[in-house]
Amino acid sequence: MEHRVELLAVGTELLLGNILNTNARDLSQLLSGLGLNVYHHTVVGDNPARLTQAVEIAKGRADILITTGGLGPTCDDLTKKVVAGAFGLPLEFHPECEQSIRDYFAKSGRTMTANNLQQAYLPRGCTVLENRWGTAPGCAFCVDGVHVVMLPGPPRECLPMFREEVTPYLAQLTQGVIHSRTLRIFGLGESGVEQLLRDKMNTLQNPTLAPYAKEGEVELRITAKAESVEEAKEMITPVEQEVRDILGDQVYGADVTSLEEVVVPMLAKQGLTLGTAESCTGGLIAKRVTDVPGASAVLQGGVVSYTNAVKHNVLGVSQEVLDTQGAVCEEVARQMAQGAMRVLGCDLAVSTTGVAGPDSDERGNPVGLVYVALATPDGCEAVELHLGGAAQRRDRVRTLAANHALDLVRKYCLKMNNEE
Ligand code: ATP
Repeated sequence: MEHRVELLAVGTELLLGNILNTNARDLSQLLSGLGLNVYHHTVVGDNPARLTQAVEIAKGRADILITTGGLGPTCDDLTKKVVAGAFGLPLEFHPECEQSIRDYFAKSGRTMTANNLQQAYLPRGCTVLENRWGTAPGCAFCVDGVHVVMLPGPPRECLPMFREEVTPYLAQLTQGVIHSRTLRIFGLGESGVEQLLRDKMNTLQNPTLAPYAKEGEVELRITAKAESVEEAKEMITPVEQEVRDILGDQVYGADVTSLEEVVVPMLAKQGLTLGTAESCTGGLIAKRVTDVPGASAVLQGGVVSYTNAVKHNVLGVSQEVLDTQGAVCEEVARQMAQGAMRVLGCDLAVSTTGVAGPDSDERGNPVGLVYVALATPDGCEAVELHLGGAAQRRDRVRTLAANHALDLVRKYCLKMNNEE
């Protein structure tokens, strides 16, 4: 039987835009991994009448309703009462929940107030979903063929509870799983990827291939439906290989989140240290590299050489070149990278100099003109990038410039690896 899932997030903060409904995104992904189809996301404020109305609508179109939020001890936390009421169930006191709540407070050294015991009232006959990450227990029940699951709002409670408590409950209702592997591609746009893979995308049915444009890169999701995760993985592997054969080293990783996540281990594997000399990216490359655990083994340091004086005095960029060609030119990018290699004593150094916008620079260089260079023991390479367009955002130009710089490092490591 095909199940229809509705996610109902409760909280006025969500409607005011104070917080983002990340639970809907994350739970949807987890649910599709269980082979369950999510058909609706609903958000409703802390208002009993509108919550009742939302539950009535959900009852008519879903057979699995998962609510998040409103399970806490405050008076606006009304989800249990209203949702259970809509299914004709009264709340009753669960002494075992009282004990768990008391234990949680004792363990975390906090004082429990009387209203916390409200959290031990749950719908009659429900399955209690233990909350080891907070105080509000969740619950699950089934009335007239509709399965209802209630989870607390904070993602640090809701998501582990879903994984550990709800997944076994829902697994009994499903047949098969949907599993995806996401390839990250740099150096090709979404339409470029589509063009190269069009035939495959049109003919493949299971697994399927779907590209998504991301900030300056493309994600390609390979999704298989199978009896088990292992079987789905086996179905995905040959398709991944075919895609890699077509796209080559433009595929920079599978199930990774960023270029830096692959660059740091690649540098570590080669035993290479990195330094940065950043103008328009203002330290972004060094920041992104240091976001990755293990960065200390590879990042030697960085110079944010925003002014010409720092480019000249710290990195040794020629004053004459700065005066005659300006800071945004290939020669300055090269000298910055070479200077960083010398000053920081690293094996490789990347540099960026360009116009992030919103206005062109005093020499009339357009927004988005960026030079990126990589200095290595084998020499120095530089690329000229046009990341602009009048409407280009400053942060995007900087992100794209940093991506290109990290990709230069990645390609160099690949070359070294292949030569071994
Ligand atoms: P608590 O016991 O913390 O009160 P609760 O179940 O009552 O839990 P809410 O009061 O609705 O949850 O929300 C508490 C916090 O959880 C919110 O302030 C917000 O930070 C986070 N939160 C709630 N719902 C969501 C959601 N749908 N997506 C992301 N974060 C959420």
